[in-house]
Amino acid sequence: MPKSDLVLLALDDEEILQLFDRALTAASYQVNIARNQAALKKALQESTPALVIISQNFNDADELEIAKGMLERFPTMPVLLLLLQDSPEAIKKAIQIGVSDCLYAPLRIKEITKTVENSIKRSNRIGDWTRREVKLTTATLQQRVDELQQLDTVFEHIEDGVIILDEQSNILLINPAARRDFGLWLDDSVKGKPVSEVLPHPDLKILMSENINNPTPHDEITFDDGRVLSAQCTPIPRIGLAITMQDITYLKQIDRLKNEFVNTVSHDLRSPLTAILGYVDLLDRVGPVNDQQREFIHRVQNSVQSITSLVNDLLELGRIEAGFDTQKEVVPLEGIIRYSLETVSGMISDKKLKLDLNLPDEIPQMRGNPIRLRQVFDNLIGNAIKYTPEGGAITISVEVQNDQVILRITDTGPGIPPADQPHIFEKFYRASNVPKGVGGSGLGLAIVKSIIDNHQGRIWVESLLGQGSAFTVVLPLYKQPAAPTA
Ligand code: ADP
Repeated sequence: MPKSDLVLLALDDEEILQLFDRALTAASYQVNIARNQAALKKALQESTPALVIISQNFNDADELEIAKGMLERFPTMPVLLLLLQDSPEAIKKAIQIGVSDCLYAPLRIKEITKTVENSIKRSNRIGDWTRREVKLTTATLQQRVDELQQLDTVFEHIEDGVIILDEQSNILLINPAARRDFGLWLDDSVKGKPVSEVLPHPDLKILMSENINNPTPHDEITFDDGRVLSAQCTPIPRIGLAITMQDITYLKQIDRLKNEFVNTVSHDLRSPLTAILGYVDLLDRVGPVNDQQREFIHRVQNSVQSITSLVNDLLELGRIEAGFDTQKEVVPLEGIIRYSLETVSGMISDKKLKLDLNLPDEIPQMRGNPIRLRQVFDNLIGNAIKYTPEGGAITISVEVQNDQVILRITDTGPGIPPADQPHIFEKFYRASNVPKGVGGSGLGLAIVKSIIDNHQGRIWVESLLGQGSAFTVVLPLYKQPAAPTA
């Protein structure tokens, strides 16, 4: 047991002092002696002992006050109080100020060394434990600091712009990419300020106000210099909102080129077909044609018409996929359905079809592109009429459930074989059982699917061979935007 620990004796009775000195020296402790307060002060200035023993009435002073002062300066240093007379009051006070133990006269050497040894051991154990805990906490803290520094580095260097807002739409964090996007200087102090004040961009305002109603909002932020950002708003529990932005200017440019190409091709493909049809129509006016020639003219007209309709469908699909007519507005769904039905009412009566229309008393408004939505109904109702044999029945029903409108078009046509069902929304796909003489390009449902996708909706088919088909379309309803928060 290494006993080189220094024990400071603050004792003024020479006899007791000698006893302690002998006892502790014999037990291999280093001993320092202070016979008065000045000596005690000096000893504590020169070295920090492993333990101090102070006697009651040391140097006629209040030993507890002295002990208190020492413990304030060296909180982990054990202080032993030597009681010369029995005094429960002194013991109580001693415990209150944090004295480690008391020694009572008369004293035995063994008792002195044992008490000193135990007190120093306990103090060392507390010291070891404290050091271990401090080390552990420091390591954990360092790990957290490292992680935060890593996150900070990612946040600072990420190419996407990121803005974090609190629940009152004040800026908590904004990374250099977002600053660059909005032309903020790096040393601009924006933390804690309302985002609407720091970044008063109208598109950003719209994005954030829509977010309250829409769980996965994304929108574009367009700048006067032609840059376009794709922005997403994600609510973060207990923090607020994260806005992430990517520069999609180059994608927009590609899109523009694609649109220009579609427009040019549209014109170049349609013009010669119109000319052919025009001249074929004129043939019987420039001279008499025999029956066979008339039949041939009729076939040419049919073929040109079907190529024209194929080209129209193809161009239409190209325009939809290129993002034409994507502007959305509040549309009256019922009006669109009724319009669509009006245009096909002649075909319905020609085929003697029974039409059942089940509309709710009121269809809430939805947000969409009226031209495109009209195309959806034209195609689905058109197919139901086209594929249903004479005398069959078509049912059109609309239901509103939660925040969705569900449209179902059911017919008593030939149905679609199960193997074909997963493919009918693909371009140019026609089912294996298309009745003879029923024309089509296989593009109608691809157009429908593209439009529904653009409206964040869903479409599917349920069909039984020989019994009929039911096409279901689900579209999200329009929700009134709440007043912007920023
Ligand atoms: P098409 O021009 O051939 O009608 P669509 O893309 O509109 O092309 O439809 C794809 C295929 O799906 C059709 O060729 C047909 O086989 C099948 N189909 C679509 N609607 C119906 C329906 N109401 N009844 C039976 N089959 C249908």
